[in-house]
Amino acid sequence: MSYRIAKVIVDVPSRETDRPFDYLIPAAMQGWIEVGSRVGVPFGRRTVQGFVLSLHEDTEMDPQRLKPIQELLDLMPPLPQDLVKLAEWMSRKYACSMISALQAMIPAALKGKAERYVTVPETDGNQDEPAFPGENGGLSSPVLPVLLTGEEEEILAYVKASGQVTMEHLSKRYPGRAGEIKGLIGRGLLSETQMIKDKVRKKMIKTVAAAVSGEAAEAALASFSGQARRQKEVLEFLLEVGAPLSLQEVLQTLRVTAGTVQKLAEKGYAVIEETEVFRDPYKNRRFQGSEPLQRTPEQDQVYRKVTEALSARSYGVFLLHGVTGSGKTEVYLQTIERCIALGRQAIVLVPEISLTPQMVERFKGRFGGKVAVMHSRLSTGERYDEWRKIREGRVQVAIGARSAVFAPFADLGLIVMDEEHETSYKQEETPKYHARDVAVYRARQYGAAVILGSATPSLESYHAARSQADELFAPLLLEMKQRPAGSRLPGVHIVDMREELRDGNRSMFSRALHAGIAARLERGEQTVLFLNRRGHSTFVMCRSCGYVAGCPECDISLTYHQKSNNLRCHYCGYAAPAPSICPECGSEHIRYFGTGTQRVEGELAKLFPGIRVIRMDVDTTTEKGSHEKLLQAFREKKGDVLLGTQMVAKGLDFPEVTLVGVIAADTALNFPDFRSAEKTFQLLTQVAGRAGRHQLPGEVFIQTYMPDHYSIVHASAHDYASFVREELNHRKAMHYPPYSRLILVTLSHEKLPVLLRMAENFAGDLRHKAQRLGWYGNLERFAAEALDILGPVASPIPRIKNRYRFQCMVKYRGALDAVRLVRETSAETLDQLRDASLQISIDVDPQMLM
Ligand code: ADP
Ligand code: ZN
Ligand code: ZN
Repeated sequence: MSYRIAKVIVDVPSRETDRPFDYLIPAAMQGWIEVGSRVGVPFGRRTVQGFVLSLHEDTEMDPQRLKPIQELLDLMPPLPQDLVKLAEWMSRKYACSMISALQAMIPAALKGKAERYVTVPETDGNQDEPAFPGENGGLSSPVLPVLLTGEEEEILAYVKASGQVTMEHLSKRYPGRAGEIKGLIGRGLLSETQMIKDKVRKKMIKTVAAAVSGEAAEAALASFSGQARRQKEVLEFLLEVGAPLSLQEVLQTLRVTAGTVQKLAEKGYAVIEETEVFRDPYKNRRFQGSEPLQRTPEQDQVYRKVTEALSARSYGVFLLHGVTGSGKTEVYLQTIERCIALGRQAIVLVPEISLTPQMVERFKGRFGGKVAVMHSRLSTGERYDEWRKIREGRVQVAIGARSAVFAPFADLGLIVMDEEHETSYKQEETPKYHARDVAVYRARQYGAAVILGSATPSLESYHAARSQADELFAPLLLEMKQRPAGSRLPGVHIVDMREELRDGNRSMFSRALHAGIAARLERGEQTVLFLNRRGHSTFVMCRSCGYVAGCPECDISLTYHQKSNNLRCHYCGYAAPAPSICPECGSEHIRYFGTGTQRVEGELAKLFPGIRVIRMDVDTTTEKGSHEKLLQAFREKKGDVLLGTQMVAKGLDFPEVTLVGVIAADTALNFPDFRSAEKTFQLLTQVAGRAGRHQLPGEVFIQTYMPDHYSIVHASAHDYASFVREELNHRKAMHYPPYSRLILVTLSHEKLPVLLRMAENFAGDLRHKAQRLGWYGNLERFAAEALDILGPVASPIPRIKNRYRFQCMVKYRGALDAVRLVRETSAETLDQLRDASLQISIDVDPQMLM
């Protein structure tokens, strides 16, 4: 079948261009252009990159007016058809543009930009076809004698010899001759074209190999005279190795010049070739092989369930709830092994921060060269090469952070998502997708299995597994409660900071934690101090009784605004003056709360002179690789204390750490987010599960002003089930996910009054539309389907880069297409107002409400 028309999504980020455009497929490209092909197409006066969405025999447009596709950028489409389908789904689900979804799936190296080239157009009878129809009729001849100046001839000759030259290069080579160059273009002697150029190319190296063997080789070796001794050595070496070697390597090993090898090639005894190589980021690392372990009964039950689905090629999602150290990773490894044996491929997703060399080593050790690793520390070129190994079927396993979920495997069999509750699986920039949802969608496409693993599953996944209410996402719950290695979970002590204050201790360290650190210093053991801090929010808390000011409507902590000295809810906009006396107990010890790592570091230095503290926070880890370096330094015992934010929780696997202190559990607990209890529970469980994994017994102290809070109580008892029961009741009562869904809409503009009006407009329109559809109403009163709109209110970060920000939160329940409603309303708002400064961003199922 011959398709003449391709629908193409162009890489032009605007609302108007977020639809397919029709292009003609030139005869020469037919059969080559496929769904998912990346092409260069004329768009207006430019050449832009685009992706082929579909192929057609015909078009509703006037074919005469269609432009042809200019170039095909890759022989193999970078996107298999299933990923193009996935992009369409993402665009609907997350209200994002098609191009942003497609771009998210391919490595940055393939985000090509148009470059302008100059070539000598082919004319004067060199072509098979006449240059234009009049030629043979002799009406006009294109080959008029042209008079060229010497300079012009020189430029022409140069371009002709080079084939094509970038405009930039030409202007540098012939500075001050812009007039001549433009003149040549004007007279049609040079032509200017645009082509898409990738950011990174395949890496090519020169290789050399012997071109003779057997008797011919003997004869060749015998033919060298005294002077050609070096050539003989090279040939002997090449014959001995018997495979192509990098030229560089040969020159270095034998200490010969390139000329020597060149002469050998000229005699026909060796061949020098350009060969493509894959940049291997793990080139200089050796991985220890590892054999599968004998599965424990718990592991075996999980293994069987998953591999049954794999063999049957049936779609299935498994929520693997296994305590830390229960051997989840071993289960991943063995199910992947089975997946590969069945001829299918697997993706392993891990949070970026857990993608450590140790983690990679476990997979490389088991599967060796079958593994591609994708993480943000790779260079663009390395990433591209890892990706190509996947696309070209050279590897069967891909490990990576969030975006590895798009790994373009041909027959995807299994997707493992470790630490499935991690917030980092949600992308915060457009397209604002959640890797879990994408994984589930892909698994449905391929009849594949998904393992969602965690010691503290997200409430969304856990509830979906328990209720089995959602047809598309109803995971099977599998549990592992034992640690095969036999180590025990550490003892966790909750320290009541109110009591400390009552007893006259105003320091941020309780007496117990202070004594604990002192004892570690004496014994030469190590301590990890954990400052449970997210974002930059401050809340008001009473240090005498633990009272925290919260929103009466939304049940989240109110945020303290220093300028106006008041408290505000950033969900609904409720505001109240900041109290100076605690409304609960009358104490004056009520103040805004928030401790930085630097302050803790200062206090440590004061309390323990000479103490060596390694601080790990956003300030000390901005540099590439610094995170790992700091952990390494601590591992080498170059520090007594590792102090940091949640980052340290993940790296917590140090044999000599016997004490873990959580300085203030309250900073996470009172974060103005309906998930703050869940996040606190997850963090504390992680901290508590990590200490004392080795010989030395571990001890954990959690300091808090709310020692009775259920997330702290249950985390210290390692009791997920009890925590979830309480938290789900709470969510249900407040109509928060998983009992509703959210869409966060953020509007921004340079001028505050304009923004205010526009935000009110937007919210008003949305309410009207919802009302007309019969959706609008308080979630309290409507059972099955309802939609509520909170706001607009100033965003928690009210101004970024000179743009003011307001937000609305849409809360809904039932099978309403709320995303579409929000998207349409936002498009209409933008159309009506025609104010280029206004931006509306839509975040579906937001994870961060800041
Ligand atoms: P998780 O991923 O759940 O934290 P791991 O897979 O890292 O747990 O396992 C924890 C420890 O238990 C590791 O040292 C691992 O080698 C060991 N382990 C796992 N499975 C087994 C098994 N079947 N027999 C013996 N040891 C095991
Ligand atoms: Zn109080
Ligand atoms: Zn509120």
